[in-house]
Amino acid sequence: MKVAKDSVVRFHYKLSDESGAELQNSFNSEPLSALIGAGNIIPGVEAAMIGLEVGATADVEVPPEQGYGERNPSLMQRVPKKYFKGGAPLAPGMTVMVNTEQGQRPVTIIKVGMTVVDIDANHPLAGKTLKFHLQVEEVREATAEELQHGHAHGPGGHQHAED
Ligand code: ZN
Repeated sequence: MKVAKDSVVRFHYKLSDESGAELQNSFNSEPLSALIGAGNIIPGVEAAMIGLEVGATADVEVPPEQGYGERNPSLMQRVPKKYFKGGAPLAPGMTVMVNTEQGQRPVTIIKVGMTVVDIDANHPLAGKTLKFHLQVEEVREATAEELQHGHAHGPGGHQHAED
């Protein structure tokens, strides 16, 4: 069968930035599983995978609006250093988890001052054009439970404690 809405696809991917530098690579670990049509993966990758069969590969260039969105300048903020109390020493380039109104999210440390820290809460891949090499490992119909949950189950997918 072909990858389509409401199917579960298991796939390998290699992600490079616009210059060709490799950022992520699943080929030396486990493939990912995604429920197609449920927003599990970025739109540009999902669109590239529709219609592919097992064993097929695809190379796709994904602009920010089909990927992790544009960078939002308002997500660059200066916050009191005491906010980070208790963690490891802060250094520029570090990613740390912080509590926000939207729950825990990763932020990148930009600059560490005496009493304040400049942070960037944009997704690290926001604003970037991304190159994906994709390889389809498995395609199957989603189960009723997966459709209800909005994600794939099993290896490479969502692992429930009760499963
Ligand atoms: Zn589930």
